[in-house]
Amino acid sequence: MPAATPVPRGPSVLTLYSASDLLTAPGCPVCRYAAEASDRYLGWFALEGHAQPGLLATLGRSLGTCAAHSRRLIGQPGAAVRLTVVYRYVVTAVRERLAGGIASVAACPACEHDNAAAGRALETLLDGLDDSSAAERCRDLGGVCIPHLAVASGRAHRRVIAWLSETMRETLADAGPGQIGWLAGTEQDAQARTALRASIPAAGSQVATACGPCLAAVVAERDSLARLPIRVRESPDDRAAAVLCPGHLADAAALAAPTRGLRDLLTGQAAATMARTRPSIGSIRGRPAWRRPDRGTGCPVCRARREAEREALVRASRVLREPPAHERRSRPLCARHCIVLRGVDERAAVVAALGAAATAGLLAAELAEEFERTTWARRAGAPATEPTAWRAAAAFLDGSVFGASPPS
Ligand SMILES: [Zn+2]
Ligand SMILES: [Zn+2]
Ligand SMILES: [Zn+2]
Ligand SMILES: [Zn+2]
Repeated sequence: MPAATPVPRGPSVLTLYSASDLLTAPGCPVCRYAAEASDRYLGWFALEGHAQPGLLATLGRSLGTCAAHSRRLIGQPGAAVRLTVVYRYVVTAVRERLAGGIASVAACPACEHDNAAAGRALETLLDGLDDSSAAERCRDLGGVCIPHLAVASGRAHRRVIAWLSETMRETLADAGPGQIGWLAGTEQDAQARTALRASIPAAGSQVATACGPCLAAVVAERDSLARLPIRVRESPDDRAAAVLCPGHLADAAALAAPTRGLRDLLTGQAAATMARTRPSIGSIRGRPAWRRPDRGTGCPVCRARREAEREALVRASRVLREPPAHERRSRPLCARHCIVLRGVDERAAVVAALGAAATAGLLAAELAEEFERTTWARRAGAPATEPTAWRAAAAFLDGSVFGASPPS
């Protein structure tokens, strides 16, 4: 009897032998490889991964995938039934974690996969640039994007960084307006986030919103991004200018495109990134880039988001502390914020976790019921109504999946 085909334990890895495998088309070769690897991973998740006990256990510890990857999974064909199965498992595991007082959240496995792929591609490219024909080809194709130049500065020799910086200057000077967007990096979720931010309910609106800290964070992010172009242009010194994190650079580029603002944004961010990778005079001279102290010019949008989120958590904890908490109409926190609240106010976090564990119990029962109903209908060949509880489960795990609006 022939043996059954073994079930793959992980997604297949894209072939990558040398830099020339990466240098196939204009645009950042690291982004292209990472995006392709990411699509493959999500494809594997849809076919095999969603049923693998190891991945499901990881998703229980990470409260599902991050908001960005959750949105991409939601967009896959057949997501409703697949995510009903996945969230049934994840919500049950999260309920146990909330009830057991576990205060940690593991990293999103899809993010870990994407980061590893980008790291592999960048390392292969940097190694390959010693070869003059590969370097020439890389320059012809435009070099790397701004976020990957920033990462490279911590890994490559100064000579290579100087060469990549010079290539970036040439690309910015020579490329047409429609050909520079890739310099902001390839963040596959940026367009979805931009659309969600545009639909945030207005202040004072009667529309129910998701978790308060999630809403506060998304609003702060939207407002901070709207003010950004002014800040970028006003900065008199490249070294003092804030370097946006990759996600917020992609958001700012999505907002600015296709206007002239996009070139201003990319020129400013390229200059600020290069200034931070350039060796300074004095004590820093000669020290490898990764050992230079951070000059405290972190992403301003992340900072605004963090502050608003924290203030909203403090407000929520005050409401939760007022006894008897269950009689007050406080907006429930998502599971992620119930866990984050432990670092802000332990007593309020216990109250929030009890409420969230009860919600998780109800959701798990609903997901189980919908799963049974769909399975029965499929077996009987009867038409089945599309499951819906998985959307509520996604918003329960992380309120920002739907941009802090109710799941729809
Ligand atoms: Zn890139
Ligand atoms: Zn992720
Ligand atoms: Zn939340
Ligand atoms: Zn940021």
